[in-house]
Amino acid sequence: MIPLEQVRQQLEALGLMDAAAVLDNRLDSASHDGISYVEFLQGLLGVETQARRERYLKARLRLAHFPAVKRLEDFDWAFQPSIDARQIQALASLAFVAEATNILFLGPPGVGKSHLAIALGMKAVEAGFGAYFVTADRLLQDLEQAYHEHRLERRMRVYLSPKVLIVDEFGYLPLSRVAATLFFQLVSARYERGSLVLTSNKGFADWGEVLGDPVIATAILDRLLHHSHVVNIRGDSYRLKDKKRAGVWASPATPASSRDSLGGSNFVGASGSNLDRR
Ligand code: ADP
Ligand code: MG
Repeated sequence: MIPLEQVRQQLEALGLMDAAAVLDNRLDSASHDGISYVEFLQGLLGVETQARRERYLKARLRLAHFPAVKRLEDFDWAFQPSIDARQIQALASLAFVAEATNILFLGPPGVGKSHLAIALGMKAVEAGFGAYFVTADRLLQDLEQAYHEHRLERRMRVYLSPKVLIVDEFGYLPLSRVAATLFFQLVSARYERGSLVLTSNKGFADWGEVLGDPVIATAILDRLLHHSHVVNIRGDSYRLKDKKRAGVWASPATPASSRDSLGGSNFVGASGSNLDRR
């Protein structure tokens, strides 16, 4: 076997697949450019290191369960002037993760709450922190099921271990008694230990109604808000921006009985939830 082929196989045997794949090329350009042995090795191992870093990051992004790739760089700040771009950029420094501070994005649908929550989560993963994304509905269905099947403690760990837990769309559906208690347990257990990034279309005044119990709501908000950044977004839905421009969409007048822009109780009634919600 020629030495070159032997070296390639040795690299593969050592698991250095990316270095093995570029060996030929690197050797050619090394002899062509007359670079030193050290520079050659540096280049070859650099390829392997870089590829590994990318694979590792990809795997950790997969573990975080982000529903889509959303980046701060893609956010159109001019469209949503109620957001203080500097505040969000400061959050992106991730001091909040180290301090186990919470972030609450509040506002009507389509204003970028989930986008910003995911973008900060992706930054955290890129910086080496564990993150996990889940909708409030899924989270509580999951915990409620685990509770009934007497495996709550184990399941709770999924939501306690990541440094950043993103709970999306809190408050769209009212919670059952059990779900409200489980959410309280989660918030208490993460308090001062890990960041919770929460998005909601409901103002704090409506949390009593969402949780079905003003006492639990106060206890949760007390812990959630103690170390927190609250980002209140007011503005138009980005989803409807083109329709609006074309004149297809006119904002519906909000009836007095409706608590939010989804049409309040109608939305909940139509959701067909299989949980015993109150
Ligand atoms: P919300 O969670 O507040 O309902 P999303 O964050 O899901 O809204 O935003 C709806 C869609 O519009 C997403 O695809 C999001 O990436 C996009 N979007 C929202 N606001 C902006 C913005 N200011 N710049 C760029 N894209 C935006
Ligand atoms: Mg959203």
